[in-house]
Amino acid sequence: MARRLARIACLVAILVLPLAGTGPAAAAPPKRVLIVVMDQMRPDFVETFDMDNVRMLMEDGVSYPNAYLGHMAAETVISHNVMTTGVYPKRMGWSDEVHRDVENALGAGPGAFHVTSSFAASEFFALQSRAGRPNLGDYVRSKFPGRKFAVVGMKTTAAYGAGGPRADMIVTMSSRRTTTTAPCFGTLGGRFRGPAGVNVPAYIAGTGECGRFYVNSDTANTYTTGITQPAWMYPLDGNRFVPGFDAAHLGGDTWVADAAMEIMQREPWGGMLVSFGGMDKGGHMWGGITDTGTYAPSSPEEMAHERFIVRNADNQLGRLIQKLRDLGQLDETLIVITADHAGQPSLNHHGVNAAGRGDFNWYYGRDADETYLMPQPQIQPLIATGNVAFNYQDTAVRTWLTDRSLAKKQEMATVMGTLPNVTATYYLDGNRYVLHSSSTATPMTASERAWWRAHGQEIVDTMAAPWAADVVGLLSDNTSYGVGGDHGGHQEPVQRIPKVLWSADVPAGARPAAAFRSIDILPTVLAALGIEDRAATDGIVRPVYPCTTRASARLRGGVSRVTVQARLLGRPLAGALVRIQGLGTGRTVRTDAAGIASVSLRPRRSGLVRITLPQRGLSLGCSRSVRLRAAAGTAGGGAGLTGKP
Ligand SMILES: [Zn+2]
Repeated sequence: MARRLARIACLVAILVLPLAGTGPAAAAPPKRVLIVVMDQMRPDFVETFDMDNVRMLMEDGVSYPNAYLGHMAAETVISHNVMTTGVYPKRMGWSDEVHRDVENALGAGPGAFHVTSSFAASEFFALQSRAGRPNLGDYVRSKFPGRKFAVVGMKTTAAYGAGGPRADMIVTMSSRRTTTTAPCFGTLGGRFRGPAGVNVPAYIAGTGECGRFYVNSDTANTYTTGITQPAWMYPLDGNRFVPGFDAAHLGGDTWVADAAMEIMQREPWGGMLVSFGGMDKGGHMWGGITDTGTYAPSSPEEMAHERFIVRNADNQLGRLIQKLRDLGQLDETLIVITADHAGQPSLNHHGVNAAGRGDFNWYYGRDADETYLMPQPQIQPLIATGNVAFNYQDTAVRTWLTDRSLAKKQEMATVMGTLPNVTATYYLDGNRYVLHSSSTATPMTASERAWWRAHGQEIVDTMAAPWAADVVGLLSDNTSYGVGGDHGGHQEPVQRIPKVLWSADVPAGARPAAAFRSIDILPTVLAALGIEDRAATDGIVRPVYPCTTRASARLRGGVSRVTVQARLLGRPLAGALVRIQGLGTGRTVRTDAAGIASVSLRPRRSGLVRITLPQRGLSLGCSRSVRLRAAAGTAGGGAGLTGKP
């Protein structure tokens, strides 16, 4: 099937590039997968911020209006690993922003606390190895020997989380460095970030501080966010999350796309995850969906606000697609567009709104190398119990206790229920959370209760592990204890994320009603790539491709035998249910390993038979009608049917 993907929008120009018309071609499985993560993207960003390239992929691909994240903690440092392993946070080695290392896997002592978003690569890899989950890269290498799995993202939490210890290549940004000697001192402001990661290729790493992949990271360079509330709680520090104005050293999502495109061009890649982190920063600073203002073109304010940041990310997606096209790789690539969580504005904010308060609003406690002991007043009732070992609060409140007895967990949960906008409380019991109360100081609205009834327990249970918080407080919609916009919790505005899949053989504009969670991404991608031998995950394969059928009918001794062969992506569709209806009969049979099913009919007249395969697994289903004709002179003397459907 000739494919479309006709419109690629760029910030400065709209490119109209129809795909080469190749005429009808046999459906075939994709040979590569590109996962693009839009960090903190909500589905309504597409229209609010004119994400032309995402919209185009939705129109030309399959998108899932009932998709949701499906886990807590709804955070970058969790979700990227979920996407590439297909397991719940509780089974991947760490399950929250804060980790109590009960097994001393990291060597700082049993029970030592760690802020996972500050993990070094070695700490991520230690916990990932301990969990022992194969990830997307392992499957790509086994299916396509010689092909590489690469991850690119400016956030280490995204890059190491998604890549894992066996990724062929991980490219991320270094921590901030200071220099007074480099020749590019003036350009980079003396404080810069450069490429870091695993097997960073020389064409990215080896360019020195004057090279393209080194960017300004001056903490004084905040594009006014350092002096403007609420952004000042978590301001910009140079060009880590925004492109900036230095054309030779563009940062943010432009940096990410440029690195990814270099790898696409130069490496035999089979799988790639590209994580655009700009809009997450904008969402935290200003609230995300409420940050709809427009600012003077090329002004610092425009650079720092969500409209520009989101459109830039969308433009970078357009550049990636164009690069695939230029390299002749587009028609063999499966593209997945999703988010690692959505986000909500802090219309109810329970942190201290002051410059630099972000980390102190989020964290209370002391870990191996960080100390946060300036909590907002709203969590004082928890601290007053004398039993808080560590606290973390964004759009849910989590408390790790010193005394972890059942009575103390219940006592803390009762206190938790008095905090502002806490709507339900839970305590940890092994591999699940027990609901303590949904009658707290703040009642849920009707819509909050409907979402909570459907998904509250499901979502909170996904982080229940020995290292997880002992007590959890879920919060109202549009509430945060952290910064101006936030995520982490179970709320529908945080959990509703885009899921768009495109490849050459998906039906344009399909909108399957099926749910699609982030644990479903890996099994679905592997099924599309034709990787049948896969370890168990917590996810299931979701429908992406339509099936096709061929049918024939043959007369034998007065009985008409109708045979159906079902295929998906050019392969036999085994184990599919086939419903055959018409001419007074209705039968359901299952296809064999060759995708073949047949039934015998004893029809009395000519007419139509309807063959239907319902949606199941990777298949969106398919149906067709077959006209069977009466044929005289059969062995039994009666009329049978033949058909050449
Ligand atoms: Zn994120």
